[in-house]
Amino acid sequence: TRVLKFGGTSVGSLERIRASAAIAAADIRRGDKVAVVVSAMAGETDRLLRLAGGLGHGLGDEETDVVLSAGEQVSAALMAMALRLEGLEAQSFLGWQAGIRTDGPPGAARISGLDASPIRAAMEKGHVPVMAGYQGASKEDRLRTLGRGGTDLSAVALAAALEAHCDIYTDVDGVFTTDPRIEPDARRIEKISYDEMLELAAQGAKVLQTRSAEFAKARNVPLRVLSSFAEPGQSEGTMIMQAEDIAERRIVSGIAYARDQARIALRGLSGAPQSAASVFAGLADADIGIDMIVQSPASESGRTNLEFTIDYRDLDKALEKIGESDAREVLSETGLAKVSVVGLGLNRRADVARILYNALAEQKIGIRTVSTSEIKISVLIENDAVEQAVRALHAAYGLD
Ligand code: ADP
Ligand code: MG
Repeated sequence: TRVLKFGGTSVGSLERIRASAAIAAADIRRGDKVAVVVSAMAGETDRLLRLAGGLGHGLGDEETDVVLSAGEQVSAALMAMALRLEGLEAQSFLGWQAGIRTDGPPGAARISGLDASPIRAAMEKGHVPVMAGYQGASKEDRLRTLGRGGTDLSAVALAAALEAHCDIYTDVDGVFTTDPRIEPDARRIEKISYDEMLELAAQGAKVLQTRSAEFAKARNVPLRVLSSFAEPGQSEGTMIMQAEDIAERRIVSGIAYARDQARIALRGLSGAPQSAASVFAGLADADIGIDMIVQSPASESGRTNLEFTIDYRDLDKALEKIGESDAREVLSETGLAKVSVVGLGLNRRADVARILYNALAEQKIGIRTVSTSEIKISVLIENDAVEQAVRALHAAYGLD
């Protein structure tokens, strides 16, 4: 069994929908059982978001989710029609009809359960189910959306429930060493581990949604990323699998970037461990993700300087929360970006930092903050230098 997910550009027009339906039909003729999951047509979710935004989201976000989830309903039905034109029996399913249960807030719900029996029943009748991605129902049977890129998660969750393979069809021929739109010399990665894929996604590579990579890893879902723009069967794509199953592993797999970071610096925070803890407790309460934490002694004895990065969209909320801290001074800066080098072998490579600093120094790109883990090294730089930094690091780590 195979779950085929088609992203926004792959269902962006009736022509693209027909091409994607032809890919599903080819799999079925080859003997696969197939379920399809679709995104909204490219640009549609943004249009719907503007509509809802025009009414200030109606003083609450629940109805916005109903507006936003409409895009997938349309493409699911159109895809079912296109599959019928291929001579197949097909039937569309909204998220709730396919048994997707969620918890969490509107706009960022999580899949808490999936009873795939309606989808299974359709497949047993020989129908191709086409599920609307990005949506499910809350405990109270209200519509919920899963956050940007959420259709990837819908597809992986359905594949897990059906014990199926998951093929993510998009507008590039797989996962590349970096975003091919920024670096034309980026190369397709044939096989990549779940951990590296997860890290690339978490650091900004939008080719796969982060939570879907997490889910696939946890449930061991065989995952591929391929292009729907190739003729059926012609896209080679990328296989995402357990690291142990990859014979030839590279030290560095790829470079990811995330624009629109903000940095907050608290100067002269009381040195008591409690004061930093309470800063982060306040931010956690407000659901604000923290990244790149640096702490250093302040010149004033007994005090400390603490800085970290967040998504700039959370800045106002974060500063409000931090207002309650005992820092002497709170500074903030926007217009920053994070560029990350990802690879399972990074920690074994002694010259990883030298290469990074050399490459960026040659381009005269200033580094604000660096953070490392076993699997990545990230630098905080100015937004305007992102493309230059990505290309320089891509070459410096020999990915081109
Ligand atoms: P879809 O609508 O199919 O979900 P997305 O736009 O979410 O497609 O993801 C595909 C895009 O991800 C590509 O067009 C590419 O620009 C971008 N991308 C970013 N990083 C990478 C990468 N490392 N490999 C491939 N694509 C990447
Ligand atoms: Mg996507």
